[in-house]
Amino acid sequence: MTKETIIGIDLGTTNSCAAYVDGYKDGNPNVRLIPYKGGDYTIPSIFAVDDKGNELIGYEAKRQWQLNARNTIYGAKRLVGRTATSDIVETMKRVVQYGVKPSADNKEVLIEVAKREMSLQEVSARILNKIRDVASNHLRTPIHKAVVTVPAYFSDRQRQSVKEAGKLVGLEVVRIINEPTSAALAYGVGKHLNQKVCIFDLGGGTFDVSVIEIRDQVFEVKATGGDIFLGGIDFDNAMIHYVLREFQTKTGIDLSTDPVAMQRIKDLAERTKMDLSSREEAPFNIPFITMTPQGQPLNIEMKFSRKLLEQLTGELIERTLKILQKVLHDSGLSTHDIDEVMLVGGQTRMPIVQDKLTKYFGKPPSKGVHPDEAVAIGAALYAFSLQDDTNLKLQLLDVIPMAIGLEKADGNLHIVFPRNAPIPNAKQIIGTTSADNQAELIMRIWQGDHEVADKNEQLGEFTFSGIRQGPSGAVRVEITFDVNVEGILTMRAQDPDTKNELTTTVRVTQS
Ligand code: AMP
Repeated sequence: MTKETIIGIDLGTTNSCAAYVDGYKDGNPNVRLIPYKGGDYTIPSIFAVDDKGNELIGYEAKRQWQLNARNTIYGAKRLVGRTATSDIVETMKRVVQYGVKPSADNKEVLIEVAKREMSLQEVSARILNKIRDVASNHLRTPIHKAVVTVPAYFSDRQRQSVKEAGKLVGLEVVRIINEPTSAALAYGVGKHLNQKVCIFDLGGGTFDVSVIEIRDQVFEVKATGGDIFLGGIDFDNAMIHYVLREFQTKTGIDLSTDPVAMQRIKDLAERTKMDLSSREEAPFNIPFITMTPQGQPLNIEMKFSRKLLEQLTGELIERTLKILQKVLHDSGLSTHDIDEVMLVGGQTRMPIVQDKLTKYFGKPPSKGVHPDEAVAIGAALYAFSLQDDTNLKLQLLDVIPMAIGLEKADGNLHIVFPRNAPIPNAKQIIGTTSADNQAELIMRIWQGDHEVADKNEQLGEFTFSGIRQGPSGAVRVEITFDVNVEGILTMRAQDPDTKNELTTTVRVTQS
């Protein structure tokens, strides 16, 4: 056992998984997944409060989901770090059964559970804490530090939220790394490779794709892209909507307002979807789903074919392919330059996803990594490389997934870092005062690829105060934007003529 073990955590939308390095085996770090109850390596990322007020996490929460849908929080990762007015919050409200509302100051999103309100950080913190407890028990040593993975397409705010969630439960998130980059580590560490790989990561809630060049211990991301709202849950929802429509056509009854019925349909939809990855047809039967106004019990009796599932989800798959094309284009490479295509995330088990990729690249995807475990394994390897007792030296050269810029007077975005800019990265811009004796300069910073600033996610409003007195246009302010290795932005400003640092305050709000 090492001095202080840093574990790797894949904090997934649907499932989480943790791993650590247990010394060396045949000269390479020996990664072990941390088993959960019953030997499973994944923990459902679900938090619930039961009717007695007990908090349940993981399988305990999943098991009672059907009967307690309003107080069972899943998919929270999609909401973490979002401003209350974000479109994504509106979409989430329509598909989840728990209450989602803006906080009193309208800054962030709150979840309603068992008549209390919780922040998303608190929900993530509970899940992180559970994973940490399982790891501490398994390793028989207290764990205080972890490397945590996030979707490559997470914004600065979402990354900060994950770090804050760790802080709430005394778990230091020593480093945030991107999920596809982590999967590349699982594939490439110890193999002395010189390859360009494409990581296609379609998980429960998010889609990421990265093109990564591996040169032995150096992992250089060439381009990345994704969609935070595209994953297995959306495939389930496409099936659920179909079932609801069919049932309503047949019986005139709308099941969407019945939480227990919805939960049963949801559960079976996911199971049927997974079944259809290995068979062509599957029954979809739920007895006594509801009653007629006359008190007659009604059943759902349907059949799903793989073809039908493919039709219902064709648009989702097309979206992944469009993003893949864009990322490959951004990387400056062509399909022939890619040595291996790696599948990550449970939803990539769907055969048509693999067929489409085989067609696109002209070769089948590699079986080089385990789709559910690769991200945690990579995180554990990276964690090990940060420990005191290591001789594993890894170099990760990542990029930011979306542009970061400031709002101009006309409301458009002035891009400071374009998407796919390498990190860490720093840039300076010089501004001048626009009024006599101006004491403050206020800047609104956004992240996203839309040219209109407020169509993106706001990272914060930065106020630089203590500007030297002088006539309009005569005083200069030099502002430094710093994006660290984790993709998190900090800003500072100084007077370039006097070298005096200005005071910087940040307010994160949605205008
Ligand atoms: P992950 O976030 O990687 O754990 O991915 C979980 C997602 O993969 C969930 O939406 C699952 O329904 C989906 N999934 C898992 N196994 C399969 C399978 N055999 N076929 C299709 N989807 C699957």
